[in-house]
Amino acid sequence: MYEVSLSNTLSKAILKLCSDAGWDRVRRILVKIGGIRKVDPELMTFIFAGLTKDTPAEGAILSIMMTPLTLKCQSCGRVASREDSELICPSCGSRKVNILSGLELSIEALEVEKDFYKHE
Ligand SMILES: [Zn+2]
Repeated sequence: MYEVSLSNTLSKAILKLCSDAGWDRVRRILVKIGGIRKVDPELMTFIFAGLTKDTPAEGAILSIMMTPLTLKCQSCGRVASREDSELICPSCGSRKVNILSGLELSIEALEVEKDFYKHE
């Protein structure tokens, strides 16, 4: 399951940010994931919740934004986006394609809490 490794990477990155910045809680996380990664957002949310139990990110709301896979065909020159993650031109069926977008994995936004009294 790809969701497990992706959730693992994501939770580690967030907890690292958290300890570096001294945040007490993470409330919300907005993540952008490219369409090529074939991620089930519900499954990912579930795994992420399990991984962040007993951490400052426990109970954080994970919002996943999927970006479509966009290809440029080297054979017919068309630019097209695909719903699935097949690297095949939808117009001519060529496999000679360049990926224009859909590879992303990035943390777009975080909503956090910091107890300033505790960190004086
Ligand atoms: Zn083509």
